[in-house]
Amino acid sequence: MAVTTPSALPVAIIGAGVAGLALAVMLRRQGLGVRLFEARSRKALSEGVFLTLAPNGINALRSLGLAGRVSALGIRTLGFEIMNAAGRRLIHLDEQQSMREAGAESVTLRRSDLLGALLDEALALGADIRFGHALTEIEDRADCVRLAFGNGATVDAAWLAGCDGVWSRVRRACFPASPDPVYTGLTGVGGVAELPFVEPTGGLMHMVFGKKAFFGYMKPDDGPVLWFSSFPLDEDAALAKPDPLHLAATVRRLHAGDPHTIRQIVDTVTQIPRTYPVFDMLHLPKWHTGRVVLLGDAAHAVSPHSGQGASMAIEDAVVLAACLDAAPLPAQAFAAFQTLRQDRVEHIVKVSRRIGSQKQVKGRVALFLRDLMLPLFIRFGARTTRAMTRYRADLAPLEKPSV
Ligand SMILES: Cc1cc2nc3c(=O)[nH]c(=O)nc-3n(C[C@H](O)[C@H](O)[C@H](O)COP(=O)(O)OP(=O)(O)OC[C@H]3O[C@@H](n4cnc5c(N)ncnc54)[C@H](O)[C@@H]3O)c2cc1C
Repeated sequence: MAVTTPSALPVAIIGAGVAGLALAVMLRRQGLGVRLFEARSRKALSEGVFLTLAPNGINALRSLGLAGRVSALGIRTLGFEIMNAAGRRLIHLDEQQSMREAGAESVTLRRSDLLGALLDEALALGADIRFGHALTEIEDRADCVRLAFGNGATVDAAWLAGCDGVWSRVRRACFPASPDPVYTGLTGVGGVAELPFVEPTGGLMHMVFGKKAFFGYMKPDDGPVLWFSSFPLDEDAALAKPDPLHLAATVRRLHAGDPHTIRQIVDTVTQIPRTYPVFDMLHLPKWHTGRVVLLGDAAHAVSPHSGQGASMAIEDAVVLAACLDAAPLPAQAFAAFQTLRQDRVEHIVKVSRRIGSQKQVKGRVALFLRDLMLPLFIRFGARTTRAMTRYRADLAPLEKPSV
């Protein structure tokens, strides 16, 4: 069926995460009518802990006019240092050269600050954003797509962008045969805490392969400690609602045998409200139908180990907007978008999986070999990372990236 787009109808976006808000900004800049629907409340956008935007993510934000504003909200992240459980430094990686090549820095910031900056910009540009609207049904009609929400509202839209994350309702409704996301075996928790006794990390993320769990933290000269822990957990336990006191006790116990600073940090943690079970999704054959397209984790969930998921979501928004600008019909733009993006994001999902598997190594011999090989693995991997971060969605969104 040929798809036409009645200009009177707005575009609908489902999900006010990184992908949805970035797309709302890009489409408003192009003058399209945008209605964005988010299941949660506006207040809930302040949930979540922190994330690192890679140089390619910051560069993509240039297209949104937000690179400077978002960078100013975070901590310049110059590289990382990894230790083993005994406190021996396995590797120190200074990424400043790679950032110079990319023309942007890595920035670590609170998730709520990133979402807040995107939301403010989308609203300032006139996007119509509705919270408390959980999408339940999609009907693909002859001249529009009709959406139904859990609160009883129905809305017609010219076309629909599913930016509703790893458990995307849009994906499951429009591509019922699509594979489910895969649990990676690891679950994350994290926090932000004012801990004056912890030494600043000089712009480095300090990470430790602890005895039972992986730990990372960063502290700027004049700000709180940002920390995370990821540990193996079976899927049912990972998906169950945690008891915050019990979860904090578990994390303290997991790191009880780890280097001093980690114990100092986790010993201050008395409650952890939620876990982040890590799922990923390597390959989704089709990301679009005539009137529906998927972006961000809905199309290609990437585990957090590569620190690229949010950057990929911003790149998606920039590239889709460029495709829409170039193609006469949305359906053509969606097809071009998938062709431009799929190889890159699938490569990054694979790289991220490989990094995550290093966090699940068990047994003395395997750990010994891991510690021996890790510096080589990371130095070799750094070349791949450099190529990934050099990509400029802001400069050449219609060129297919080499990775
Ligand atoms: C613990 C953890 C740490 C991470 N760290 C990093 C990092 O350091 N760097 C990095 O780049 N990435 C990181 N990531 C990955 C990154 O967070 C994701 O890739 C990114 O948030 C994807 O954005 P998104 O907009 O596609 O999805 P999401 O951020 O998941 O947003 C989806 C939105 O859709 C809404 N929604 C869902 N269903 C519906 C519905 N039916 N109706 C309406 N709305 C709906 C949700 O409420 C949500 O607001 C991390 C992920 C985790 C779990």
